[in-house]
Amino acid sequence: MADTTENKMEKIVSLCKRRGFVFQGSEIYGGLRGTWDFGPLGVALNNNLKQEWWKFFVDSREDMYGLDASIIMNAQVWEASGHTGAGFCDPLVEDTTTGERYRADHLLKDIGVEAEGMTLAEIDAAIAEHKVTSPQGNQLSPARQFNLMFESHIGATAGAEGKVYLRPETAQGIFVNFKNVVDTMSPKLPFGIAQVGKAFRNEIAPREWLFRVREFEQMEIEYFVKEADWEAYFEKLRADIQAWHRHIGLSDENIREYDVPANDLAHYSKRTIDFEYNYPGKGFDELAGFAYRTDHDLRQHMEHSGVSMEYIEPDGTRYIPHVLEPSFGVGRAFTAVLCEAYTEDEMNGETRTFLRLPKHLAPYRVAVSPLLKNKPPLVEKARDVFTMLKAEFGNVAWDDNGNVGKRYRRQDEIGTPHCVVIDFDTLGEEAPEHTDTVTVRNRDTGEQERVSINDLVAYVR
Ligand code: ATP
Repeated sequence: MADTTENKMEKIVSLCKRRGFVFQGSEIYGGLRGTWDFGPLGVALNNNLKQEWWKFFVDSREDMYGLDASIIMNAQVWEASGHTGAGFCDPLVEDTTTGERYRADHLLKDIGVEAEGMTLAEIDAAIAEHKVTSPQGNQLSPARQFNLMFESHIGATAGAEGKVYLRPETAQGIFVNFKNVVDTMSPKLPFGIAQVGKAFRNEIAPREWLFRVREFEQMEIEYFVKEADWEAYFEKLRADIQAWHRHIGLSDENIREYDVPANDLAHYSKRTIDFEYNYPGKGFDELAGFAYRTDHDLRQHMEHSGVSMEYIEPDGTRYIPHVLEPSFGVGRAFTAVLCEAYTEDEMNGETRTFLRLPKHLAPYRVAVSPLLKNKPPLVEKARDVFTMLKAEFGNVAWDDNGNVGKRYRRQDEIGTPHCVVIDFDTLGEEAPEHTDTVTVRNRDTGEQERVSINDLVAYVR
């Protein structure tokens, strides 16, 4: 198999643009940094990812409840959560010649210096000591804290009272609805609340395609437990996260669990694991986070809002639950799934590119085509098969462009697991024993089988 690690990421980004997965945001106006638009195939893959996640973590369990909170929330939410303060800032430095802005911790990381937990003065000292310049070789300004929340104003007033923020994480929507869910659903502890939705961060330097963007989607769970039980449920959820990553086709050797050392933990967290993926050309970096956040968030909201966040047991015992937070970025999962699936091999003496996507994630489950598009009986029969499969699976492609070989290549490149071809055999014109059978071609092996139309749905499933 051809080794493709060299510029694999560039090939994936280019395939995604060429085949309608991901476009630059606002492209015809020169783009907008840190934003990307999902095209027809990208939105299909993204939706499959989110739906699978929901099935996996919510629908298949009894202890999870769904939620969809507003993106714009009362500004006091972010005071209580600490996001308006230094806790949600990144250290910013400017190129003193061009004015271009950079994340100081990333510039230091690029030369092997870990800046996590450093004060601004320590960052300035490290920059001086290692003679760090901007990527253009210019001098850098002193570091300052830059808050990542996007501000806006609500209503007609532009004053401080109308100030709002776009949510930088979905998690706080869950905490502020904790009481609503408890009061309406009477869940027994432990239980979780799950939410999928957009989040916004005014990243200083968006980079690496979907990896660090300003508008993205998260899939988050807050799992509420009794304090004494946190370690047991931490291990259970950790195993669930591992199983989820396998479910979306990520291989164990490309996932690394980084146990964040105690001195780097956020002040409210007693344990955090970063699930890292081995992105080609970049190496291991965060894919998802998993943190034990104690009772910090509920306690903060209880203090700031004056509303009790206590859970009351049937016997009357009251306490603030502790919380475990698995947090996934959709874009990073999307990237990892594509990196894992992207394959080059040789078939019939030619290099071919294909996406070995799990079939529950592939944009199209199956493609249907008539052998020749100018033979009405073939087309009619193929339309019947297409309609039957579409009623069953929904995401079925009709492909009658070019010759069959070209169609296979095209479907390979977008990861369609099976191609069904209706030929003269199907019509009973060649060998009568093949009447009402079709050719089904397998994406990964290129092998073809004859399958009866009656068995096709079961075969594809
Ligand atoms: P990083 O250290 O990479 O900035 P983080 O630790 O700030 O990430 P969290 O706040 O834990 O990230 O967010 C949870 C998840 O949301 C991350 O694991 C990631 O998948 C996703 N995420 C966070 N920020 C971004 C971003 N700017 N672009 C894309 N995905 C993001």
